[in-house]
Amino acid sequence: MSFSAEHFKQQFPLFAQPENRALVYLDNAATTQKPACVIEAISNFYLHANANTHRSSHRLARRATEMVEQVRRDVAGFLGAASPKEIIFTRGATEGLNLLANSLCSQLRPGDEIVLSTAEHHANLVPWQMMAASRDLRLRFVPDVAGVPQFDRIDEVLSARTRIVSVTAGSNALGFRTDLDLLHKALSERDLFWVLDGSQLAAHDLIDVQAMGCDFFVCSAHKFYGPTGIGLVFGREDLLAALPPWQGGGEMIASVDLLASEYAGLPHKFEAGTSSLASIAGLGACIDFLGRQDRAAMARHEQALVQELHQRLHAIPELTLLSTAENNLGIASLIHPRCAAIDLAHWLDGRDIAVRVGHHCAQPLLQAAGHVATLRASVAAYNTRQDIDRFVAAVEEFVAQLDADEGTSSLPVAER
Ligand code: PMP
Repeated sequence: MSFSAEHFKQQFPLFAQPENRALVYLDNAATTQKPACVIEAISNFYLHANANTHRSSHRLARRATEMVEQVRRDVAGFLGAASPKEIIFTRGATEGLNLLANSLCSQLRPGDEIVLSTAEHHANLVPWQMMAASRDLRLRFVPDVAGVPQFDRIDEVLSARTRIVSVTAGSNALGFRTDLDLLHKALSERDLFWVLDGSQLAAHDLIDVQAMGCDFFVCSAHKFYGPTGIGLVFGREDLLAALPPWQGGGEMIASVDLLASEYAGLPHKFEAGTSSLASIAGLGACIDFLGRQDRAAMARHEQALVQELHQRLHAIPELTLLSTAENNLGIASLIHPRCAAIDLAHWLDGRDIAVRVGHHCAQPLLQAAGHVATLRASVAAYNTRQDIDRFVAAVEEFVAQLDADEGTSSLPVAER
């Protein structure tokens, strides 16, 4: 197999719409565009198969139930899980992390410790903060340099009280990958729960949770060409079986009486209420679509784009890159000392180039790095060399304009 970004891009109808023909979409770390097969699967579900699941009294309900359980098996294969029972559908990575925080922390005693990193997305920080406050748990952080976690020093914060380690597999703000082998070695002999936030990694790499050795892995389908409204939690079967559910409601019970209920088995115990059924149908199509691609060639293409981005941005005087090209999940994060990132983003938007600006829901990381906001360009496999050319040329033009205007910016320095 081989990979052509141009051919790949043709499968994404958004880019073929007249108003999007000139679009350079570099906001993929926020969400990716969707291929036609995913859009069609969602539409087909509503056209031909819409019914609620796990109620077998009619044909459509049985079909919807079979579809959900088939996609669960597909996801188990996609993540390298040992069994579909280890796969829980949530509405997104955020809900998955809240589920784990609530369920895992119910097993902890006051004074127990949870290890996180400075580079966490707020979704892998705030739920643990909430648990720590209500259950008197202690949060500890992997040592960092300017916000970048030094995972090779994780031993310094592991103690006899450490019960949970929950860290990102790759930063959504700066793009760096976490060395998972190193973490595996540091954590595998310890009696603790190891959670990985794989939201960014899953878009760029093949996932094998068994080889990684983590206990739990969380991601959102919309970051890897799938629909919004569907997230995945992998959990080791023996651990999930012993944990209490988080949300209560229909579908997650075996029987209910007025004062108490008996819960369903795995994985339904963790799936209260009606799931995002159409999104699950779209996810099934997405996994099938990714299975037909040469993932290694896709990753090489993305890596070449990231290298080129960094090389060319480095050549622009004064522009500072907070990201590095090595071990990078497709992200260039930059600032310019004489302008607010938002001004540059508006300039790019005026040229139909979509990027993201702000703290990228990783405020502690940016604060530790000494910044309030960066401009983030993030690539997907449908991005081309021409996209990088257009982006870099527009940044160069903006900087030249700044020089011409002697660097005046509409925003106060504090917000730059
Ligand atoms: N973790 C990381 C690393 C992310 O990049 C994101 C999305 N930006 C999330 C968690 C949360 O994902 P979602 O908003 O889809 O729940």
